[in-house]
This record gives sequence, structure tokens and C-alpha cells, in this order.
Amino acid sequence: MDEQINGVRLHFTDTGTYTAAHAFPNVPTFVFLHYFGGSSLSWQPLIDRLSPRYRCIALDMRGFGDSEAPATGYAVADYADDVAALIEHFHLTDFTLVGHSMGGKVAMAYAARQPAGLRELILIAPSPLSPEPISDDERQYAVEAYGQRAAAEQTLRTITARPLPAELQARVMDDNLRSSQAAWRAWLEHGSREDLSTLLPQISVPVLILSGEADKTIKPDVIQREVAARLSSTWRVQMIMLPDAAHLLPLESPDAVADAIRHFVNPQPNRYPAGSVRALLTTDLVTPQTRRALTERLENTERLESPATSSLPVAPQLFTPAEFDTLRAICARLLPNAQDLHIDLAAQLDARLQIGKGNGWRYDVLPPDQEAHQRGLQAVDETAYALYELSFAALDIWQQDAVLRTVQSGAPPGATWKTLPAKRYFEELLAELAECYYSDPTAQETIGYVGMADAAGWSAIGLNQLEAWEPRHNIETIPNISAASLPTRQIASDQAAPPMRHYTLDEVVDAVVIGTGAGGAPLMARLAAAGMRVVALEAGKFWKPQSEFATDERAQSALYWNDERLSAGTDATAFGNNNSGVGVGGSTLHYTAYTPRAHADDLRLHSEFGVGVDWPLSYADLKPYYDELERYLGVSGPAAYPWNDDAARPSYPLAPLPLNGAAQLMQRGCEPLGIRTSPAPNAALSARYYQPGVGWREACTNRGFCQAGCSVGAKASMDVTFIPNAIQDGAEVRAECFVTQFVRDSSGQITHVVYIKEGVEYRQACRTVFLCAGAVETPRLLLINGLANSSGQVGKNFMAHVGLQIWGQFHEDVRPYKGIPGGLISEDTHRPKGVDFAGGYLLQSIGVMPVTYASQLVRGRLLWGEPLQDHMLGYNHTAGINILGECLPYPGNYLELSNEHDARGLPKPRIHFSYGENERRLESHADLLMRAIWSNAGAREVWAFHRSAHIIGTCRMGSHSADAVVNPDGRSFDIPNLYIADNSIFPSALSVNPALTIMALSLRTADRFIEHAKQGNM
Ligand SMILES: Cc1cc2nc3c(=O)[nH]c(=O)nc-3n(C[C@H](O)[C@H](O)[C@H](O)COP(=O)(O)OP(=O)(O)OC[C@H]3O[C@@H](n4cnc5c(N)ncnc54)[C@H](O)[C@@H]3O)c2cc1C
Ligand code: SF4
Repeated sequence: MDEQINGVRLHFTDTGTYTAAHAFPNVPTFVFLHYFGGSSLSWQPLIDRLSPRYRCIALDMRGFGDSEAPATGYAVADYADDVAALIEHFHLTDFTLVGHSMGGKVAMAYAARQPAGLRELILIAPSPLSPEPISDDERQYAVEAYGQRAAAEQTLRTITARPLPAELQARVMDDNLRSSQAAWRAWLEHGSREDLSTLLPQISVPVLILSGEADKTIKPDVIQREVAARLSSTWRVQMIMLPDAAHLLPLESPDAVADAIRHFVNPQPNRYPAGSVRALLTTDLVTPQTRRALTERLENTERLESPATSSLPVAPQLFTPAEFDTLRAICARLLPNAQDLHIDLAAQLDARLQIGKGNGWRYDVLPPDQEAHQRGLQAVDETAYALYELSFAALDIWQQDAVLRTVQSGAPPGATWKTLPAKRYFEELLAELAECYYSDPTAQETIGYVGMADAAGWSAIGLNQLEAWEPRHNIETIPNISAASLPTRQIASDQAAPPMRHYTLDEVVDAVVIGTGAGGAPLMARLAAAGMRVVALEAGKFWKPQSEFATDERAQSALYWNDERLSAGTDATAFGNNNSGVGVGGSTLHYTAYTPRAHADDLRLHSEFGVGVDWPLSYADLKPYYDELERYLGVSGPAAYPWNDDAARPSYPLAPLPLNGAAQLMQRGCEPLGIRTSPAPNAALSARYYQPGVGWREACTNRGFCQAGCSVGAKASMDVTFIPNAIQDGAEVRAECFVTQFVRDSSGQITHVVYIKEGVEYRQACRTVFLCAGAVETPRLLLINGLANSSGQVGKNFMAHVGLQIWGQFHEDVRPYKGIPGGLISEDTHRPKGVDFAGGYLLQSIGVMPVTYASQLVRGRLLWGEPLQDHMLGYNHTAGINILGECLPYPGNYLELSNEHDARGLPKPRIHFSYGENERRLESHADLLMRAIWSNAGAREVWAFHRSAHIIGTCRMGSHSADAVVNPDGRSFDIPNLYIADNSIFPSALSVNPALTIMALSLRTADRFIEHAKQGNM
């Protein structure tokens, strides 16, 4: 390609396959500057090795290769100006400069300007910034050698340690002979003699220097003395000598050069030897339930190595042999087994589909899972036939990759694709395979994940901190540790269903509460404490966290609401683990427990911005409940919260939780931008805490698994807080009871709640119903029963926080599995100035478990094969920031009943969700800001995961029956003895996490109800 850059026509190449510049503008980019007499083509062997993962831009420097050769302008500074203009031309924000010999001097001169976005400098046999040490005779000979083939051949012999392949020799010769005379002379007579050595201390980025042991042109000791030793301002200089190579390293030893570069720019991969997890499992570092879960998976993997004893099917159960062959071949390309691994992804997918187990949602544009995969595999084969006239399995790997890339691109040939969206199907298949692969302990070893060894928790959780026992990289064995050296822990209770009062079905209880999450549990406890007879009906089971919650994402997936929801719209939101839970405690079983309060202005969105709606109550109505909840739950937080706008607010009862690696990095990145940060308020205990009626709850052990269940009892989920209190005060919690219907009398009041337990239908008599099933199941139940919808608002106004995440990888050891996932917060963007959107957002640091990370990575970037596995090697160096941003209600975002039915025969819900202009603008603002934060913190491989979080709205609270489902007390306008208390009643999304506000509303609804009851107004 040619472009007019810095007033000169410059030629360059721009290579990168999956990273195709246009799709990922911020993908890490190498910019290559060649040696004297070379061209962009001199880099080809290296580019072949790096471009599968990186974008590679190689320049013909002015006067060389195909670039223009002006008469003048060949000082080192002129070349550096060209580089600056090239970077500007491509808008590069994350790049590494690679300079060879003369290109090395130019690269150093440019790097000394400290340009934004330059991450590292790679110098290959660099000409020093001081004058190049050659004699006048040598110089004169070189000047006169211009354009002479014999001299060029002699030079080639001198600067290489052994002969290059003929094709490369020809390239070197050709480049030499087409150099312009102006550039040739200028370098020899001026550029190489310029003394710019005072620039060296101004280079502040990490520098890798490669030198050939046999280099006689610029000898290693010269490079060591004149370059390496004088780089005084950078924190990282590494010099590597390559054996059997001289001056033309990128052509002589491309593999070694590529490896050295990869290792330098990538965070050190933490890889543990095969058998590490098995060794860990024999220690007391692992809880019994984690050991059970992982041992079972390991045994399945091992059986696959000797299929005679395999418990997994050797032959497919669901797929035809032909489909299975295709699937196996696809798996081998998308997620090839790393060395010595035997994970049979195809068999796992076949087995999963055979038993019909889902993950809680699917894109509405795809058919049900079984059908999608059967048709998808057939369609991949059709594409293979269309492109190569062979089945996919019969193709060679290059052809298979080409087929997969065509499918990924979204417009592959093949009749089946006309009714099956290729891109979405590809994403689904890839995500499923990535989740299976990285759930396997043997794959986890390859990325250095030992998060499962958390029986004692973690104390070394900051950047570059490891426990005394924790394996360093490349160790051979894992040390054992005795039980005596571990701190003992106890939690208050670990009974599945504690003893409780029971009510008969005919007994007309005061309240039936449907759902025991953040909305149901607080009011249940309040009503029981007021002496009311309360029965809670909960679809999920009573868990025994201490003995059942494993540190294993797959084992813990039973905590998520896994009944299938259909997700539609241009920004279709993910359900399953992303959104709601099932079990006594609801979604709080796997929430992160961030508990910021809503601000007064959050409740007045319409008054402030003229969009959305105001809440029919104010901060003053919620304040006493916020105060009460923070004390009751034991929220840990800073002594003075920087964004507090309530002068009368009590301080948090507990000191903040310690900051993990991600939090420290976010702090580092925010400081130079003047963004204030603070340890987040979090309902996980930083110290033991006495809970009246429950006993002592133990402090958080930093095991970082909050989003898949806290086995310690430190996190204030409802099962260890309000629910035990409610039971002590006489409430009955009936687990595994799924509510389906309501019986009403002639006046329209509900008299019975109908539910199913173990396939049998029951009816509980009641005076009042509190529907707290969450923002999907609550409207779904109402729509199925045709209830409480005179306003037409049931299911409407669905909202989900804009939840953009920006991930980066760092040189430091981050270990994202340690510490509460969200340690640091900033609300400086609550109402940002000079923006083009309504509302605002908050910023939070985030840690992440490996399966979740892999799944997001493939959905977000569609990485597969080597680039995916390469990226995952940096898992231990990964940190994220996410936002929670305002989301406006739109008519097009709503929940409806679909025509598909679930196993109970009930219609599945379909949720439509698309961002409006406001969400897009807010997201763009946050995207730029978070990238700037990560840039300041030193991140590499920065990428964005577009997502939405939390399910909000669908049964709006308001002052008027015409446009709301419930009044400010949570009472239905249509059915006086029906209340709703959950995420569905929020009129607007708030720019903070919702759980504390849901609980506050729940307590308020209970108090209002009790007040009315006292007045005989029940
Ligand atoms: C991974 C994750 C992290 C989160 N992190 C945070 C955070 O850090 N801070 C924060 O504020 N919020 C967070 N949230 C959100 C927060 O957990 C939810 O907003 C909140 O728990 C929702 O409360 P709810 O009462 O509306 O619904 P839920 O808590 O989901 O409770 C609904 C309950 O109803 C039951 N149910 C549903 N249908 C029926 C039926 N037909 N019959 C019987 N029972 C039924 C369900 O099993 C469930 O137990 C997070 C959520 C997730 C998933
Ligand atoms: S609160 Fe979270 S980090 Fe703390 S012990 Fe529980 S799961 Fe681990």
C-alpha cells in the first residue's frame, strides 16, 4: 500500500488475519522499521509468525524499497517524523515498535519522544544512538558499493552467519539494489554518524534487545555498552543473544526472534505441569466438594484416553456419525487439545444435548439447541462442499480454517445458512466449546489456574503476590500442606432446611411470598417479625454452602436460573449466569454484593433530563432502610465515601475489604486522570460480624468466587441473613416449589397460590400474595395468568444496565481469581459534565474466573484456535473494569410470552432488548475512559466486551393506575391483595447496582403493609 505520509509517498504492508485491523482497531500492533538497504519485505518471515495474533505494519523507509526517495530529508529525526506520521495515519493506540539496525536507531529516536500508545520497543541488532563504530575506509567502501551486485553479495555474506534460503537471498539482494542513492549516502555519511545518545534516558517504555552472537557489523558488546547500559529510565530492559546468527536476525532466526518478541510483549504465561491440579487435590488446600467435582471431571478425561473404560459415549448418542465427524473436526480447529490433553469436546456436547440440559437462554434467532447444532453442522459441511467439494472432515486444516472463517464472517455459502444465522451459530458453538475446554482441570493447568485451592482462602491477593505455598511458574511439583497450618473456619449454619414452623395448605396464612431473593427475603423476615404467618414458595432448593458449594464454575452452574429464556433485539441480553439465580436466596446466592446506594437524583431522571420517568418516592423514603440494611448486612466500606450526598448517613459498619490486583491496577490507571476511586461498599464481611438471631458470620477469605456462591457465609446473601431470621420468627420456606397459578374469588382477590412440587400440584390458602420472582418470572407469571395488567404495562419497560467491560493484560501477576471480584469503585462519572447523554454510570474493577473469561473472550472477539489459547495463557495477568450505566425504558424493550413451552408446559418468555441512542453514547464515553485508564495502568491486549447486566423493570411502580402496575407501596392497582417486591418494579434503572435498593424497597413495602394491617386495611 502507498500513502502520502509526512509529505512523502511511503509504501507499507499491513498484515493480520483474525485481527484484521478494521474489526479491532485497538488490537496490539507491531510497526517494523527495516535495516539499511532493506525494505518491508525483510520482515516477511517474522510477520508470518506474528500476524496470526497481531497486526503487523511494515514500512519501506523513505529512499528504500518502494517508497519515494526525496532528494533530502534523511536525518534520523526525519525518519522519526515519518514514523510519527505513520502512527497518526493509522490512529494506533497500542503498538510496539520494532527496529532493526538502522531502523533501531530511528525507533529509539522516536521512542525518546515518549509517544502515547507506544508499549514496548524491540531493537534488533540496533545501530546505537551514538555514532556507529565503523572506520572511514569501511564507510568509503560502502558508499562506493552502491548499486553493485558483487558488493551486495559480499555484504550479504558478511552480515549473515550462514547462507539464507535462496528465496531470501534474492530478496535481500533485490532490496539492496533498489535502494535510492540519496538514502544510501545520507545514512552512511550522516545518519549513522549522528550522536543522539542524550536521547537514550528519555526512553521510558520496556525495551527488548536482540543481538546475534556472530554479528560483526554491530557487535553484541557494542550494543550492550552503547544501548542497553544507557537505558536508564525504563523499568525493563532485556538483552538476548541469539546463537548461530549474525546481523540479519529476522531472516536468519525468525522463529527465535518471534518467540523472544512474543515472550517479551506477552505477560509471562503461568503454566503448570501436567498433574499439578491432581497433586493439589490431594492436599487440604482444596475443599472436599471441590475435590469431588474436579476428580470426577479428571476421571472422565482420563477414561477418554482409554475408551474401553470410558463413561462418556464412544459413539454419539444424538448426532449421526457424519455430524459427529464434522463436530470432532471443528473442535480440533476451534479448541485443539494442548499437548498431552485429551478433552473430548464433541462427546461432551453430544452428551449435554442428549439430556437436554441448557444454560438458561438462547438467541431468539436460533432454533432450540439440538436443532441448532444438527442444522449447524450440516451447514458447515455444505460450506465445505461449496468451497472445496469435500466434507469438512475430509479437508486439510488450512481449508478447514478457511471454511470456519467463512462461517464466522456471517455470509457463508450453503442452503441451510439461509435460515440459520451463521455468525450467531458460530458464536454459540464456540462459546460452548470454550466453556467445556476451560472447565477441565487439565486445561486449567495450562493457563496456571489454581483458584480451586482456596479452602483456606487467599491472603496474598495484591499485584505480584503469591501465597508461600502457591506454585511459581514452571514448577515441577506442588508442595503439600498440612491441615494444621490452615486457619479453621466455621460458618453459622450449614443445614439444608433448618427446623421451621409448618403451615397446612388450608390454613389461610397472612402472606405467601413467591421467591426468596433480594426482594422476597427482607419482607418475609419483616412480616414474620411482626407476628404474621408467612409461607415462602421458592422454585430452587435449600443449599448447604459450606459442604456443597465447590470452587468450580461448572459445578456451581446449578445456582443460575437455567430454564430457557429467549433473548431478542439488537443488544440481546444474556441470561443464565449473567442474570438470575434459583434457590433459597435467589440471585443473591451468586451476586457480587456491591452495595452502593442510589443517589437522590437517580430517582428524578425525568425531572433532571426530560427522559424516562421519576420514581414516585424520594431518597428520603429509602434512606432509613439503606441505613438499616448497611448495618444489618455488615457492609464493608471506606470511612468516608467520596460520593456521599447524604450528610446524615452513618459510616459503614466494617472497614473496607482488601484490594486485589485488578483494583490496584484500576487505582493506578485512574490517578493520572484525576479520577477519584475508593474501596467499594460491599456486603461481604471484612471482619467477623454478629448477626442477631444468626450468630457470628465469618469474615471473607478472599476466595473470589462470589459470583458462583460463597461457601464461607461472609457474603450477605439472603440465605445467611434474612431467611434464617424469618424462619426463627415463624416463617416457613418451602423450597423446590414452582408457582404456576393464582385462584381468585368473585371480588378478584387472590385466595390461593397454586404451585408444583415434585410433579404434584398444591394450593396454599392466603390473605395476601407478595410476588418477588424477579423481573422475568414475575411478569411472566402475571401474563400467563392474565393478572394485574389493566395498565398494559406488565412486561413493558424492560431495562438492563449498560455493563461494558474493558479487559487488559498486564506484566504483573494479577491472579484474577483472588479477592472479591469488585474491589474498587468510582462514581466520578455519575453525572459527567459536557456529555451527550442522560444519566451516568459508575466504574468498578473486576476479577474473573477462567471459564467465564474464556466464554466472554470468544463471544466478544470470536477468537479461536491458537490465538484464543495464546491469549488464555495470559489469564493470570488479566484485569477488567466495568461500568453500570443508566438504561432508559423504551417501548421496543419488553417481555412477552413466546409460543415455545418449557418442561412444565408454560410458555417461555421472550425478552426484547436493544440499546437506544442514549445507551450507545454512554457506552462510547465509558469505552474511551476505561481504555485511557488501562492505558495509564500499562495494559496490553485491551479489548471491550459489550454486555448488559441486571434485569430491571417490567412491572413499573408509579402513582397512577393508567401507566403503572403497582403503587409506591408495591401494591397492585388491580388486585388489592397482590404486592410486588423485586427488581421488576424499578421505574428507572439507576446508575448503581440494584440489590441494596431492592432490599430497601422490600422492607418499605413490608412496613407499609404492616401499617395498613394495623389499621385493619389488609
Ligand atoms: C452474577 C451476578 C452478579 C450480581 N452482582 C450484583 C452486585 O454486585 N450488586 C447488586 O446490587 N446486584 C448484583 N446483581 C443483581 C442482583 O443479584 C439482583 O438484581 C437481585 O438479586 C434481584 O433480586 P430479585 O428479588 O428481583 O430477584 P431474585 O433474587 O432473582 O429472586 C427471585 C427468586 O424467585 C424465585 N422464583 C422465580 N420464579 C418462581 C416461581 N414461579 N415460583 C417460585 N419461585 C420462583 C427464583 O428461584 C429466585 O429465587 C448481580 C446479579 C448476578 C446474576
Ligand atoms: S464473599 Fe466472595 S470473596 Fe469473600 S469468601 Fe465469600 S465468595 Fe469468597
